[in-house]
Amino acid sequence: MSTLRLLDRPSPNFDVRSRAIDLVVLHYTGMQDAETALARLTDPAPTAGKYPGPWQDANVALDAPLARVSAHYVVGEDGTIFRVVPEQSRAWHAGASSWRGEGDVNSRAIGIEIVNGGHDFGLPDYPAQQIDAVVALVEDILARNHMKPSQVVAHSDIAPERKQDPGEKFPWKRLADAGVAVWPENISSERAEHSVVTVQTQLASIGYAVKQTGVLDSQTKAALMAFQRRFRPALIDGVADAETQALIAALAHTS
Ligand SMILES: [Zn+2]
Repeated sequence: MSTLRLLDRPSPNFDVRSRAIDLVVLHYTGMQDAETALARLTDPAPTAGKYPGPWQDANVALDAPLARVSAHYVVGEDGTIFRVVPEQSRAWHAGASSWRGEGDVNSRAIGIEIVNGGHDFGLPDYPAQQIDAVVALVEDILARNHMKPSQVVAHSDIAPERKQDPGEKFPWKRLADAGVAVWPENISSERAEHSVVTVQTQLASIGYAVKQTGVLDSQTKAALMAFQRRFRPALIDGVADAETQALIAALAHTS
């Protein structure tokens, strides 16, 4: 990690992993600034009054306890990487989530919080030096843990009905070009109209928690939106149009 600019900012919010690491989950902090996010991620007793923002009701009791949260790393806008929880420990960033048929993502994941205001703060661009640091960090994590680019996911991928981060501004193609994330390749020009069950089966084969109901229901729409947010950010509508289907089929075959 010699090329990474690392600072220690330890959090007491972690416990013991119940299984081996096989995922990297990328988030945005979704807060006003880096200091507020670091304070929250290292706070052993967070309350509503300490973290005012659009995510909570204006009338909430100031002493109402919030969930204790953390991540392994926080990447600042200038590319500084804060080490918050040791990789061998279980950080608390994923919440209710699932990938490739398995829940308790916190037990199997390394969580990286990327400082960015997100949807609540106008969806700012990610600065290039910040993305360079994310790429270098993920590259290092994958190499040390013998993991593949397909094991790097968005929070929105593992919790599509609850989460949108790191958001449609996050440059996944740049990560894929650097070899630390997947991107659809060999996209078929044949515009086949797949059945809903086929689309659901392909989404599930990529890793999304989609049940094969044969109906374009809310869980399927949420997964389609998560997929589009990451791989076709120009239009995120949850509709399995021909382009979305071709991208899904391309990734279903390669992952
Ligand atoms: Zn998140």
